[in-house]
Parts: sequence; structure tokens; C-alpha cells
Amino acid sequence: MQQHHTFFIDGGWVNPASSQRIEVISATSEQVIGSVPEGSNADIDRAVAAARRALTESTWASCAPAERGAALGRFADALEKRGARLAEAVSVQNGMPINTADQLEVGYTVALIRYYAALASNLQVEESRPSPLGFNTLVRREPVGVVGAIIPWNFPVILSMMKIGPALAAGCTIVLKPSPGTVLDSYIVAEAAEEAQFPPGVINWVPGGRELGAYLVSHPGVDKVAFTGSTAAGRSIGEVCGRLLRPVSLELGGKSASIILEDANIDAVLAGLPAASLTSNGQACFSCTRILVPNSRYQEFVDAIAATVSAYVVGDPLDRATQIGPMGSAIHRDRVEGYIAKGRTEGKLVAGGRPSAQARGWFVQPTVFADVSNTATIAQEEIFGPVLSIIRYADDNEAIRIANDSAYGLGGSVWSTDHARAFGMARRMATGTVGINGYMPDLNAPFGGIKASGLGREMGPESVSAYQQLKSMYVLG
Ligand code: NAD
Repeated sequence: MQQHHTFFIDGGWVNPASSQRIEVISATSEQVIGSVPEGSNADIDRAVAAARRALTESTWASCAPAERGAALGRFADALEKRGARLAEAVSVQNGMPINTADQLEVGYTVALIRYYAALASNLQVEESRPSPLGFNTLVRREPVGVVGAIIPWNFPVILSMMKIGPALAAGCTIVLKPSPGTVLDSYIVAEAAEEAQFPPGVINWVPGGRELGAYLVSHPGVDKVAFTGSTAAGRSIGEVCGRLLRPVSLELGGKSASIILEDANIDAVLAGLPAASLTSNGQACFSCTRILVPNSRYQEFVDAIAATVSAYVVGDPLDRATQIGPMGSAIHRDRVEGYIAKGRTEGKLVAGGRPSAQARGWFVQPTVFADVSNTATIAQEEIFGPVLSIIRYADDNEAIRIANDSAYGLGGSVWSTDHARAFGMARRMATGTVGINGYMPDLNAPFGGIKASGLGREMGPESVSAYQQLKSMYVLG
């Protein structure tokens, strides 16, 4: 049982303002496995004030970017040391298979922070430009200020790092509000931040629910909001930020398509399916859960995908053999099961669909529906679980039309042995990211969505600009 009694604010561990607590329940055992204090508005006030002081009273925002790069490098080392604890904390809370937690929540996270450490070390913040009007202008990139960051439960570590990395590289300070569903990992990350010796107040955590998130979003001391979560919450946060004229980035939901072309290698598709469509039990925003298959190879792919998914090992996410763990909460499991019930009326069940065999835990069986129309609810709404819809198409134009007929536009993939043809299809897909013969977001490239999948991009050098504002100084004499 992990019990915490403080928050990491202003470079140290401080007592909460209220006695409310968040209980952490294991997705596998349904037992309480820990508890942490629940943040209140007064705790957010304290964290935002600390972040403001760090911005205005320390040299963090004005130091050479290489100094911030060095601090991020120490942070990456401190996270790496805690890798095993971090992976386990995520797995027990949200059901992520431990191999995925190792690879993404730890390995990818450490690589991402090292990437930002290197980026910060080489950051150019001032550029002298000759003006066509005959004088010189100095264009300066300044940190946007105090960032309020709101994180969902599905990839709590990596999604925090996608904000911490560019924000700190740019010289911002940050207050993070983790989701109440995944809080234990945030304490391990805070320990790593303490070891990295960021100046006090540069990075602060206050866990809590949506009201606390809403308080942070509209806090007068916050200069920019970085949100990852559902489209519904993103719309409401976007409205508030619009009214406040506060910069905001929104990484929201998805309903991505995998287009399998006629010449695709079936073994490559089956091998890549877990990463593209079922990462962390399908609880990934980019999951390609609409599988578009050409008429000419339809039955072959339906049979192969159904057989592969039926054979996935469902079980304790801490067991290294497990491929599909439980859903992140009981409410979420019920939602996913509701979609499976709906799918029975909208498609042909070819894998899974039965109640889970586990006596405890929020498990659902990985499930595949064939003969699904793209207008079906299960093809249009984000299920956020291990439920795939196979949709047939006649030719490339129809595949593109179906793929793009979605409210969302976050991920996507094209499967073909002909790269030029696959790129041709990828270029026509209305989405923020596309994988060819697999799916893996690149650290060095912008990640994010269009339409109901959000606004703005994370990762890649472009992400740092989202945490900077531009100042032009005209040198006239
Ligand atoms: P959620 O929107 O319910 O909650 C996300 C976070 O926002 C939580 O910390 C929550 O407490 C907070 N919150 C909720 N409403 C708020 C409000 N009105 N104001 C301020 N804060 C608020 O989402 P979730 O269920 O935790 O996460 C799953 C969703 O996140 C899925 O839709 C998934 O696709 C999306 N997601 C997107 C990405 C991406 O990069 N695009 C990545 C991961 C998850």
C-alpha cells in the first residue's frame, strides 16, 4: 500500500490544504493499493504562485538554454533509475501490460526527455534580421510563462513528459494536474524532478479531479494551458481559454483507420496490429480501430485478424506474458462493454465479445466485428478499448473516403509492400499522423490531431514554439 501525505510544490514536499484523499484502486485486483491527498484550489494557488516566482525571481527563464538542457538531462537519468517502479505503478493503476509500460512509459519517456535536453542545449532564442525597410530587427523567443498541464489516466507518464519537455526547454515553469485514476506514478516522477534539482517552483504537481482541472485552466496566474484528454473536456477547456485569450493546446480523442492495401503482407499486418490498434488494451488515443480491408482479400484478413486477436493472452498486466490487461476503471469497462453490445447489432462478431474469464479486475475480451459500416456507432465513436471494426472497401478512392469520414483525425496507418503507393494514400488521409506498415509516434516529429482530435502539436522541435512567445525589437538608431 503506497500512502502519500504531501504534494511536490516549490521544490519540496508540502502538506495539502485539505484533508480530502484520492484512493487508488488496482485495475486487476479491484483492491485499494494506495492513497494520496486530493488537491484543493488553495493547493493550486500555492503551486501557481511557486511557478510564477520561479519564472520571475529565478534565472530559469533567462539562463542559457543549455543550462535547462543540463537539468533535463539529470531529470532523464533520475527517471531511468526509477524505471521499474514507474512501469509497475502505471500497470497496476490502469491495466497497461508491463512490457508496454517498460517500453513506452519508461523507455520512450527517458528518450523523450533526453531529446528535449539536447534540443534545449542548441536552442537559438534570438535572431537578428535585416529589415527590407533598411534597419535591423532582433526577433526574440521568450518563454510563454506559467503552464497549467492536465493529464489523462491512459499514459500518465509519457503524456506529462510531452508537456514538461518542451515547456522546460523553452524556459517555462509548470503545474501538472494528474488524473485521479493515475496518481502514484506522479510521485515517482516528482522524486526524479527533486533529484534533478530544478530550481524550486519550476515543476509542481497537484493531483485532483475535473473541478480542480477547471480551476487550474482559468487560474489568473496561468499563461498557457496544455491539455490531453477527451474531446468533450477539450471543447470546454478550449471555450474557457478562448474567453481568456489564453494559449491552449488540446490533444483529444481519435477513431483512426488502418488502410490495408491489396498488396499488403499479411504477416506484417498481424505482427503490427497490437502496436497500431491495441496498444495498452486499446486505451490509446491513436489506436487504429477501424480496419479497412479490400474486397479482394476481405475474408482472408477477417479470418486472420479474428484468429490472431482471439489468441491474445488476457490477464494480469504485471505478468510478462500478458498482451491485454484490464480497463482503467469499472466505469470505463462498462462503457466498452456497452459498445460491444451495440456492435452485436451493427456488425458480425468474429472474435471475443464474451464476458471476461477473470473473476476480478475490469477485463474485457479483445473483440473484433466484421462487416461493419463506417456509419455504425462502433465505427464513429471512440471506444477506447480492445474493440476493432473491420470495414470493406472496393478501391483506393473508397478507402480514403471511408478513412476520412470521421469526426476525428489523429492517427492512421497504411499497410502495403509498395512504399510509394502507401505514401500516396498517407498523403490523402485527413489526419495528423500516419504510420506506414506499423504505427509509432516519432520523438522528432510533431504529434497531434485535426478536427475533433484537437489543436496544436506536441513533440518534435515544433513543440517548443508552442511554449514560446515572440518579441520583435526594431533597431532604428
Ligand atoms: P478526460 O477528458 O475525462 O480527463 C482528462 C483529464 O482532464 C483528467 O485529468 C481530468 O481530471 C481532467 N478534466 C476533465 N474535465 C475537465 C475540465 N472540464 N476542465 C479541466 N480538466 C478536466 O479524459 P480521460 O478519460 O482521462 O482520458 C481518455 C481520453 O483522452 C480519450 O478520449 C483519449 O483519446 C484522450 N487522449 C488523447 C491523447 C492525444 O494525445 N490526443 C492521448 C491520450 C489520451
